[in-house]
Amino acid sequence: MSWQQRFRQALDQRRAADGWRQRRIIDEQTTRTLHSGGRCYHHFSSNDYLGLTRHPAVIAAWQQGAALTGAGAGASGHVTGYHRQHADLEAQLADWLGYERALLFISGFAANQAVIHLLGEKNDRILADKLSHASLLDAASHSPAQLRRFSHNAPESLAARLASPCEGETLVVTEGIFSMDGDSAPLAALAQQTRQAGGWLLVDDAHGIGVVGEQGRGSCWQHGVRPELQVITFGKAFGVSGAALLCDADTADYFLQFSRHLIYSTAMPAAQAFALQAALHEVQQGEALRQRLQQNIRHFRRGAASLPWQLMDSESAIQPLLVGENSEAVALSARLAEAGCWVSAIRPPTVPPGTARLRITLTAAHRPEDIDRLLEALHDAAG
Ligand SMILES: *Cc1c(COP(=O)(O)O)cnc(C)c1O
Repeated sequence: MSWQQRFRQALDQRRAADGWRQRRIIDEQTTRTLHSGGRCYHHFSSNDYLGLTRHPAVIAAWQQGAALTGAGAGASGHVTGYHRQHADLEAQLADWLGYERALLFISGFAANQAVIHLLGEKNDRILADKLSHASLLDAASHSPAQLRRFSHNAPESLAARLASPCEGETLVVTEGIFSMDGDSAPLAALAQQTRQAGGWLLVDDAHGIGVVGEQGRGSCWQHGVRPELQVITFGKAFGVSGAALLCDADTADYFLQFSRHLIYSTAMPAAQAFALQAALHEVQQGEALRQRLQQNIRHFRRGAASLPWQLMDSESAIQPLLVGENSEAVALSARLAEAGCWVSAIRPPTVPPGTARLRITLTAAHRPEDIDRLLEALHDAAG
């Protein structure tokens, strides 16, 4: 089959399954509102949980940083791309989360790929929660290490996997708060079992960092665990972009010597690292924002309890409504758009077949009346 035939067949299948993904041009957006196609919507599909993308201090830091250091880093960190702003941010992150070292990556996707790529060797095994992010599972499925998945948020399923012998090292992988379900991993139980078996735990806390835990230190802090490896990302609650790996000094040195993702890739702009320092400051001081977000979550869940679609078991900013069929999820999303509310439908393969859903995200920037509008639109659509 030629490339062309292969592509056409795959695209036809996508369309037939109501799985077609379409990018929309966004003309303008804040955390609360979104302008697209000449209309203005209430925005419920942003991961900007604290509203920091629009924070004046973060924007000013990026502008000042660019004026001071230029638009781009100029090279890989191993050449001349590692600026004072990167080093300061790494030190602040390590200190904040209680690790010896932090290493910056250009994205969470790259950080996860780098970790899995570097750690998994022949005879090792990677035991991952089966709902782990694509960046983790993809890398693990290409790793020479053996990949086994355990049942979602099920320490007993992990225990059963750990009980079978392994010649090499064991890396256990989970998210802190799951990106498509919004539920939290039982980190204390997972960490204890992993330690007992002599393995290492990697927690990807893309959706917990900044949002939960004292000073926004995330899911691990909230659950009182300190995994050997933690990946945090800056595209969500930090309102910017990029990621960091938190680890001990030897691990950081090993990455700096051997991680191709760090060595053969241009460092994030120093201005971005400077903006991230400002965002970190806002996250640390963000108790009021976190409280407002929690109020919004409670408000939404109270109002959504009587809807015909299953509200998933989530206390986080991610509040999915389980719809089931792709076509129904797409139709409901379109119906809400007509009513002025922007909510993305999430379909397989991002989620398991038959579990298409609306992924509603709430933020600290939403006002109670925004949430009332959404609830009204949902009840109308149900009715
Ligand atoms: C968003 C996300 C990533 C990817 O992070 P980027 O910085 O957007 O590349 C990784 N893991 C999880 C759980 C995520 O939700």
